[in-house]
This record gives sequence, C-alpha cells and structure tokens, in this order.
Amino acid sequence: MHPPWRLVGTVVKGFGRGSKELGIPTANLDNSALQAVLAETVTGIYCGWASIGSSSETYKMVMSIGWNPFYKNTEKTAEPWLLHDFPEDFYGEQLRLAVCGYIRPEANFTSLEALIARIHEDARISRNSNTRIAVDCLATECCTISNQ
Ligand code: ADP
Ligand code: MG
Repeated sequence: MHPPWRLVGTVVKGFGRGSKELGIPTANLDNSALQAVLAETVTGIYCGWASIGSSSETYKMVMSIGWNPFYKNTEKTAEPWLLHDFPEDFYGEQLRLAVCGYIRPEANFTSLEALIARIHEDARISRNSNTRIAVDCLATECCTISNQ
C-alpha cells in the first residue's frame, strides 16, 4: 500500500508500556478489526495525521506498525503517538488516521534509551513533514483503505 491511506479503529488498552516505560503514549488500535489491513501493510514507522472521535481537530502523528521487536510481540499492531498533549486519555474513541509517509523499517535496539531517542527523531521527521493536503483523508473517503 502506498501512502496516503486511511486507517480507522477504536482505541483499546495495550500493555501500558508506552507512557510508563518510554514516556511516549501510543494509542493502540483494535487489532481484531484491523488484521486484514495490517496483513497487507509493510511494517515500520509511518507519519501522518490523526483525528479523534467526531472532532475535526487534526494532529500530526508518528505510528509504529509491526511486531515491536524490542518487546517481541506476537501480534502485529498499529500504535500511533499523537504529537499533542491531551488533558486525558481517549480509550474507546474512534481514531481516524491519514497515513502519509513511510519513515523507516522496524528496528531492534540495544537499550531503551536508544529506542526512545529514535522515536523522538521519528517525531521530529513527522513534525517537519509537509503533508497538509492529506488531512482531507480524515474528513472524506478519498483514501479508501480502512477496516470499515
Ligand atoms: P496502552 O498500552 O494502553 O496503549 P500507553 O501507555 O501506550 O497505553 O498510552 C496510550 C493511551 O494514552 C492512549 O490509548 C490514549 O488514551 C492516551 N493518550 C494520551 N495522550 C496521547 C497521545 N499524545 N498519543 C497517543 N495516546 C495518548
Ligand atoms: Mg500504547
């Protein structure tokens, strides 16, 4: 699949590692509904935009799709970090994503510090990316890849 493409899913509970261990919350999307889309998707780190629920507010995001080699996950997951400070969690909300660019393949890291540093570098790349046009994907069905 070539960006931009659209991904829609419900925010579910993960292992709680993002915030606690890394200082980086990742909104885990409901996997069972996403398996068909995820199966076709190249693993790695993507950048793009996100909206929550019925809000038209958009936020840049950086998303890992894959197995999280550092944690040896057994399920392929999609976990976006929205580059914004939210006053509270948004579990159970529907998250709409416009996936706009591929940053890098998945990688393993020898230390947690190295992993965290790389995720911040990914966020910097996402913040600097010039993909405003793809925000339309959040509001319309212009990119048809979704789980619905
Ligand atoms: P989990 O393992 O349950 O996904 P995390 O530690 O990764 O827990 O935290 C993710 C949760 O934090 C999200 O589901 C969301 O409700 C909340 N959250 C708050 N701020 C953000 C953010 N900027 N990006 C992503 N999720 C956020
Ligand atoms: Mg998470």
